[in-house]
Amino acid sequence: MDLFEHEARDLFERHGVPVPRGKVATTPESARAIAAGLGGSVVVKAQVKTGGRGKAGGVKVVRSPDNAEQAAEDILGMDIKGHRVHKVLVTEASAIAEEFYLSFLLDRAGRTFLAMASAEGGMDIETVAAAHPEALVRLPVDPLTGVDTSVAEQIIETAGLPAAATKAVVALWEVFVAEDATLVEVNPLVLTEDGSVVAVDGKVTLDTNAAFRQPSHAVFVASSDEDPLERRAREAGLNYVKLDGDIGVIGNGAGLVMSTLDVVAAAAAEAGARGPANFLDIGGGASAEIMAAGLGVVLGDEQVRSVFVNVFGGITACDAVADGIVSALALLGDRAAKPLVVRLDGNNVAEGRRILTEAAHPLVTLVDTMDDAAGAAAKLAANPEA
Ligand code: GDP
Ligand code: MN
Repeated sequence: MDLFEHEARDLFERHGVPVPRGKVATTPESARAIAAGLGGSVVVKAQVKTGGRGKAGGVKVVRSPDNAEQAAEDILGMDIKGHRVHKVLVTEASAIAEEFYLSFLLDRAGRTFLAMASAEGGMDIETVAAAHPEALVRLPVDPLTGVDTSVAEQIIETAGLPAAATKAVVALWEVFVAEDATLVEVNPLVLTEDGSVVAVDGKVTLDTNAAFRQPSHAVFVASSDEDPLERRAREAGLNYVKLDGDIGVIGNGAGLVMSTLDVVAAAAAEAGARGPANFLDIGGGASAEIMAAGLGVVLGDEQVRSVFVNVFGGITACDAVADGIVSALALLGDRAAKPLVVRLDGNNVAEGRRILTEAAHPLVTLVDTMDDAAGAAAKLAANPEA
């Protein structure tokens, strides 16, 4: 989960990374009041989860509360790479002497943590990496030792960062570890005219798998402009990802659902449907409640025109799943108004199929194989009247 800059700034502050004073505003008037409190010389910054805000006109350095109000007026409501600006961060302006780049990240390919640093900060780092790869230093970080003063000094020396950044580098590593981040990036890390170091911009990606031991991160989830269906699924404890197509997909087990997406995409291409509308793994249990919650989320997607329920009975037997589907449809009542294609296989399949056949729900078609079921769901999505 990516954080807003102001949320990253607050985490930095908590761990002793020097950051500019500042506050979030959602109206031009409150931007003016914050600017007045900070002495007038401020930066007004669009809070959107994408980079390159400066280039898009979403970062404005101003000299007075009046101009801060005007800047907020201009920036609020702006569209930056498809992200609508609903709030701005107003910070005291730093007198910048030099700009640097520093990040810590999880390098999955290298199976290690990585420090990346560059004396060419402030610019788009992908551009630096492409144009002057030698200007972007990459150093693996041993997770057992982490980044102490001597490791920080080594990063600083290799990349040409100012010695004054040592404490900030150590503190940023502390943010990375203590907050269970997979990315902590500062661009620019600024050396001011009076020789101090400030993290003027911050990007943090948190590892949501660590949410169980990071209760304080719940506020970031609540603030994120999450898709409403994804939010509903998360609250129901379901593993759901919204996609662009018209065929809802529900299955048990991530591997099965992933391969179902492939099969559905191929069937959709053939039938003239758009493709899978979502990933939804209902997990090991398939109780009526879970099935109803899953169907409720998928059917709540306006783009969905048919649903493929693909279940392989393992520990959960097919008869329990069939019971779950029947009760879920009863629970949903009129809200279940789209055709369902169900494929059951595995443990107790005969009994499961018997239950669905006997229930004879008008919206449910039972199909034996995964390929045929995907084909049937795709045809229904392409041509619901047929
Ligand atoms: P980004 O464009 O989304 O990466 O937003 P940044 O927060 O990095 O701001 C973009 C640029 O605005 C920075 O690289 C700086 O050059 C400039 N900037 C940001 N904050 C300040 C500040 O406090 N003082 C001055 N003079 N420039 C700033
Ligand atoms: Mn930046």
